[in-house]
Amino acid sequence: MITRDTLYAALVWALVILFAAPAGAQTVNRVLLLNSYNRDLAWTSDVTDGVEETLGSQDIPIKLSIEFMDTKNYYNSEYLNILIQEYKLKYSHIQFDAIIASDDNAANFVLQQRENIFGNAPLVFCGVNNFNFPMRADFSNATGVLEFSDMKSTIESAIRLQPDLKRIYIVNDETTSGKFNRSRITKVLPEFEDIEFAWIESMSMSEVKNTLANLPGGSAVLLGSFNRDRLGVFYTYLETLGILSAASSAPIYGLWDFLLGKGIVGGMLMSGYHQGRIAADMATEIIKGRKAEAIPIIIEQANQYMFDNAVMERYGIDTGRVPDGSVVINIPESISDKYAHAVWSFFGVVVFLTTCILILLVNIRARRSAEVDLEELSRYQEELIEIRTDELTQRSRELELANYELKKLDELKTAVLNTVSHDLRTPLTAVLGFCKIIDRDFRRSFVPLAETDEALEKKSERITNNLAIIEKEGGRLTRLINDFLDLSKIESGDIAWNDVSVDPVTLFTHAHPILEGYFMDSQVAFDLVLDEPLPKIVADPDRLLQVLNNLVGNAGKFTYQGKVTLTATTTEGGWLKVTVSDTGVGISKPHLERIFDNFYQVDQESTSRKVISRGSGMGLAISKRIVEHYGGTISASSKPDQGSSFTFTIPSISV
Ligand code: ADP
Repeated sequence: MITRDTLYAALVWALVILFAAPAGAQTVNRVLLLNSYNRDLAWTSDVTDGVEETLGSQDIPIKLSIEFMDTKNYYNSEYLNILIQEYKLKYSHIQFDAIIASDDNAANFVLQQRENIFGNAPLVFCGVNNFNFPMRADFSNATGVLEFSDMKSTIESAIRLQPDLKRIYIVNDETTSGKFNRSRITKVLPEFEDIEFAWIESMSMSEVKNTLANLPGGSAVLLGSFNRDRLGVFYTYLETLGILSAASSAPIYGLWDFLLGKGIVGGMLMSGYHQGRIAADMATEIIKGRKAEAIPIIIEQANQYMFDNAVMERYGIDTGRVPDGSVVINIPESISDKYAHAVWSFFGVVVFLTTCILILLVNIRARRSAEVDLEELSRYQEELIEIRTDELTQRSRELELANYELKKLDELKTAVLNTVSHDLRTPLTAVLGFCKIIDRDFRRSFVPLAETDEALEKKSERITNNLAIIEKEGGRLTRLINDFLDLSKIESGDIAWNDVSVDPVTLFTHAHPILEGYFMDSQVAFDLVLDEPLPKIVADPDRLLQVLNNLVGNAGKFTYQGKVTLTATTTEGGWLKVTVSDTGVGISKPHLERIFDNFYQVDQESTSRKVISRGSGMGLAISKRIVEHYGGTISASSKPDQGSSFTFTIPSISV
């Protein structure tokens, strides 16, 4: 049966489930850091930093909430009740995976109020310097790191650093921390029989300051807690140290690392930051599933020999005396360390630039050398060109001069030929004419008279022979002069070319009897072979006749048996082709090559036969010029003692 109570119970359960749902559904792990003091306390600040950094670097998401109980300033039941109310309001609905409590007040608070506020979340403590804390009856589901300063090691380090140390002044106050320090220090003092210890307690700050300012030689100061002086004035650790380190004539040793760098020489120091890190690591392990009781409590492992080089130097302490493995701060960087980067950079740049300069120097040297070589080469070439140009100019001048002289000679030769030919031919014609008249008259009138007298008859015969010789030589001289005139006229361009259309058959028919005349008294036969039809040509018939006379005349002169044949045909190209071949003495090869040169004659003495009529050596030269004048060709072939063959061609009209 359902009663009213049962209904209320069901309602309560529903609400519990409803409110529990967000906690159960949370995916982010939650950690609360509850600090005993404020963050302006260096220790607390260091612990908080250590926790924050360690949890922030984990591979699981952890949301950290941080509270500062500020119990250095307020610590009474009324204040604590207010905190309970506040934390209940803020955190009673949150199931923390772990609560980190720093220092004694917070750790005690958590153990007392855990069930009330924090749902029995696991506790990780740090900075707790009550050795009995883990022995509490309510200590469960908890672990942590105890804060125990290693007084003995700190005093040992002071003795080590100051070999003349006789007296240690311990500055401490009446606070909880101060009392705790006193009990800890008192325990170790008997171990140092050679050292005199003096407590500086229950003094105002200025009294402490004055005392420390006038300490005798061989002294050291051990600074415990001095947060509240005799007059009740509160000083933070750093404020106290600032005042005392400025005034103290002896080195001050401390217990916490947050004082290092602020005026203490050093010692075996406790590190709030280190404790925070250890506690955060423990909290992470719990989040990952490890039971808090399974994690061993750590004692004194968070301490480290730490010293300040600058303070040691200030008090003339040999820095080489610090214990092995010590952390030493404020070691001045050597110039090379300080400027290592700059120095290396500088050297790097110097090496780089030097390399560049060397490369450039090598390059410049090579270029200069190449330039010098080039300059020399170019100078040499210029000189060479100058010399060659001079030589060429000189040669050109010489050639010009030679050419000029040749022209002059040629002109002179032509002029001489003209003059001589004309002046010779006229009297020669007269001489020949009169010679013929004398011969005729002599034969007619005197030869018959001499027939009666034998002596006269012989004389008249000799006269007749002499006249014949005069006539013959006169004729030869006339031909010679005519040839001279023809050649000089052709060369000077003065000759008249009376060109007409010539039918070769008519020309040869007309020339036949004349050409036959060369063989009248000879045993050599002359044949004219016309391979008709022959192509018509345009030429001066007299000049063509002159060529035919020369070729057939020469054949007659140098042929003593056999025959001479004049053949006229048509070339494949339709030109007129005339060949005069004989069975005469022939011409050897060296002579054949020069046969068409001016005045060239074969030495007739070399031939076995006697030449009937000597020529001028100009006949073939004139013939060549005539044929070439009409665009034709002339050539000769011969075999000594077998005969010669002369061929010329003349282009036809149609071509
Ligand atoms: P030339 O008036 O002395 O005959 P050419 O110029 O006509 O002069 O001939 C030059 C020379 O060529 C001749 O002196 C002769 O020795 C040689 N010659 C020309 N035709 C013949 C030939 N048919 N047979 C042998 N020798 C020839």
